[in-house]
Amino acid sequence: MPDIQSAVSLQSYNTLSLPARAEFFCRVETLHGLQEALCWARDRNYRVTVLGGGSNVVLTADVPGLVIAMGIPGIELVGKQGVQRTVRVGAGENWHQLVRTTLSRSWYGLENLSLIPGLAGAAPIQNIGAYGVELSERFHSLEAVHIQTGDTVSLSRADCCFGYRDSVFKQGGRDQYVISSMTLTLSSEPELRLDYPVLQQALAQKNPSQLTPELVSDVVCEIRRSKLPDPLDLPNVGSFFKNPVVPVQQAVMLKAEFPDMVTYPQADGNVKLAAGWLVDRAGWKGVTRGNVGVHKLQALVLINTGGCAAELLALADEIRQSVLTKFGVSLELEPRVYP
Ligand code: FAD
Ligand code: NAP
Repeated sequence: MPDIQSAVSLQSYNTLSLPARAEFFCRVETLHGLQEALCWARDRNYRVTVLGGGSNVVLTADVPGLVIAMGIPGIELVGKQGVQRTVRVGAGENWHQLVRTTLSRSWYGLENLSLIPGLAGAAPIQNIGAYGVELSERFHSLEAVHIQTGDTVSLSRADCCFGYRDSVFKQGGRDQYVISSMTLTLSSEPELRLDYPVLQQALAQKNPSQLTPELVSDVVCEIRRSKLPDPLDLPNVGSFFKNPVVPVQQAVMLKAEFPDMVTYPQADGNVKLAAGWLVDRAGWKGVTRGNVGVHKLQALVLINTGGCAAELLALADEIRQSVLTKFGVSLELEPRVYP
């Protein structure tokens, strides 16, 4: 049975460094331990909250019930067919370490997703994506425990209903499952994805024979370090707002009024707008409000320099209002707000 403690500070368990506490807290390192912890909470009718790296949550107050810190390890080759490598990953593995480990074993496909903070088990929640690749493209299935029944289930890619920074775990399956492991389909043959413009530019000077997945990973890390604050230096949760996707007619009208607006047509006919551009053009880059603010290089990133969740959410609200007033576009928060 995992060691369950009470009134545990979660400040070091969330990358915004917000000072909330868990009513009860435990770390699980096995599937059995996870099942026992869930059973303990179920017997007492306690709410369950799972934390990975805490890099996509805003803790506004103490969290009631049981907070489970995911620590189930494991990176294992479970299938091999032609160039295809099927790899099973424990939900507690650090995502970036996983990317580097797969590269070192010549299992390719995760390189564009280098340096995303957090743990593997959270990756399906918002279908993490960066530099032109989304988790869903490498995903095979996952194993999870149903919180209310304790049953273990296996969910396929179709079951997960992946969308743009979205999945069933943010919709109908919200708060219903704890993911314990995930299976990915990687390849022993590099298949580089270099269509993302910033990545293309950064690699333009390279000799094509030098282009390897390891180099792509290194370059993605370099680009990220040059413009994104490290949460250990400047607490943040990455993008505070999702990129809005609007109907094409709205995008055409916006483009007529703001010709330099950044727009990306989507396969379904809608148009994705860059939330960072909207926030920047509404005048927010580098603005501070007390001990919270908007990062000076990346308008999508809100930073906490010693403030509280209420200040941060008030700033986010001010930004949303001003973007709505200026562009008529409603921004949605990307991180999950607790409790
Ligand atoms: P947490 O913040 O701990 O949890 C997030 C949500 O997932 C919570 O609702 C939690 O309950 C749930 N959850 C976590 N683990 C499990 C589990 N095992 N089972 C069930 N539910 C679970 N995101 C991107 O998509 N692309 C990026 O490029 C990117 N860059 C970032 C850069 C920075 C500097 C930062 C700070 C964040 C960035 N993010 C990015 C956001 C974040 O890193 C990802 O969403 C990441 O997957 C969150 O992982 P985590 O373990 O920290 O999740
Ligand atoms: P960027 O390269 O300055 O681009 C700004 C936005 O434009 C991005 O959000 C990206 O959308 C979109 N974009 C750029 N080129 C595109 C293309 N060819 N097709 C479709 N969309 C395009 O972005 P950035 O802020 O430095 O981030 C770089 C990458 O890391 C992005 O993929 C971003 O999603 C990811 N990232 C995510 C977070 C997070 O917390 N979610 C934090 C930091 C970085 P997409 O976001 O859809 O890619």
